[in-house]
Amino acid sequence: MELLINLSYIVSASFFVFGLKMLSSPRTARAGNLISAVGMLLAIVMTLLDRGIVDFRWIVLGLAVGSVVGLFAARLVAMTAMPEMVAIFNGFGGIASLLVGWSVYHRVLDTAVFQTVTIALSVLIGGVTFTGSLVAFAKLNGLITGKPVLYKGQHIVNTAIVVSILAVAVLFGINPADGYSFFLVLVGISLLFGVLFVIPIGGADMPVVISLLNSFSGLAACAAGFVIENNLLIVAGALVGASGIILTNIMWKAMNRSLPNVLFSGFGSAKTAGGAAVSGEAQAISAEDAFLVLEAATSVVIVPGYGLAVAQAQHAVKELGDLLEANGTEVRYAIHPVAGRMPGHMNVLLAEANVPYDQLVEMDDINPTLNTVDVCMVIGANDVVNPAAREDETSPIYGMPIINVDEARTVFVLKRSLGVGFAGIGNPLFYKENTRMLFGDAKQTLQALIGEFKGM
Ligand code: NDP
Repeated sequence: MELLINLSYIVSASFFVFGLKMLSSPRTARAGNLISAVGMLLAIVMTLLDRGIVDFRWIVLGLAVGSVVGLFAARLVAMTAMPEMVAIFNGFGGIASLLVGWSVYHRVLDTAVFQTVTIALSVLIGGVTFTGSLVAFAKLNGLITGKPVLYKGQHIVNTAIVVSILAVAVLFGINPADGYSFFLVLVGISLLFGVLFVIPIGGADMPVVISLLNSFSGLAACAAGFVIENNLLIVAGALVGASGIILTNIMWKAMNRSLPNVLFSGFGSAKTAGGAAVSGEAQAISAEDAFLVLEAATSVVIVPGYGLAVAQAQHAVKELGDLLEANGTEVRYAIHPVAGRMPGHMNVLLAEANVPYDQLVEMDDINPTLNTVDVCMVIGANDVVNPAAREDETSPIYGMPIINVDEARTVFVLKRSLGVGFAGIGNPLFYKENTRMLFGDAKQTLQALIGEFKGM
């Protein structure tokens, strides 16, 4: 049995690795997800069968309950609520690791040094991940303010908490058998630290936090794997931890920031938010007039943002893209790494509408070509096309790479108002000479344009 289980773990681990690899391209991502899920199913069944941990009937019942919950989550959660769902799933991973550490401590009490360290780590990282993810969920969901919550002496409080965590962990480790009170304090401050760690982060920095918490959930699982000496949990946790940190790295680079800067600068707070006042007279255009410009364009670049997800306009944008192509126009979609509310948000949306992958172009590749483009259509994007990031040294997003849509001959901005985006700062793009605002819900505006093309 032991051999069979270890062999199945190797198979599962290979499925995870291949699945992850396949996730790196939208073409293979669905299959990759499925392969990883099969690997996880195999791992769970074999682990529970091992040493008869539970009767197979419980395994079937657990599978049924888990599948129903997963099915409802996938079907009922709106596309726009995906980031919150990712945040809460990270949190569940964290609390699971904390509980594993806790239960093993209860069972063994007088643990060896290595196990004591791993228990402390799974509780600590799991606790921080759990409450940190809950705060991220609440921020994304609008339950609490998305702006950084800052107070005087915040860095001192946070440093004091980190020092106390280390001190309590050492006190617990010296004599774990009699250290239950220290253990409980460790649980408490880990949970508290998760909250205090995430509340000062706001504005456009949430992508970095979400991927960092994702990485933490992997590290917590990895620590839990050491606690219960389960090789597969160690491997799976390490894979999540590593891929999460790679994603974090991609995100902070995409925003031209450093991790300490994201975690400690309180971006977007009243203290740091600033930038030159944005004003002027925005020029609106009707769908009928915009159609005339689009009809004559030889190249169009579509820049999707969070508003595309809100409006659920992905199918409409694909239909318009097809009509433009049928009219002889070259159509490309420019993807900013932090557009939307979760990494890859725009890729997922456009893939849902079957937009061909080869029309998706990354920011670094599209930018050098934009000055030759006839029309840039900005659909529900705001922060990721804000030229203040390039032009206004006092802007809080100064230095963040953006899609330079203002370099195109004409820019159409499809949104409902002149309102701000997630970072809460004004956008000078709306007042530029070559910009025309197409006010309204993105889907309705796109449908109006589609109607014009069809009536041609
Ligand atoms: P923004 O949040 O900057 O802007 C979205 C715009 O969409 C709003 O200004 C809004 O304007 C418009 N909008 C909303 N609903 C509609 C609608 N129905 N029809 C048309 N327009 C609509 O989005 P971006 O994608 O440009 O930038 C993403 C931001 O989110 C960045 O600051 C990023 O850092 C942050 N973020 C990204 C995450 C990620 O992982 N990608 C995670 C968390 C945060 P109006 O109200 O006028 O319509």
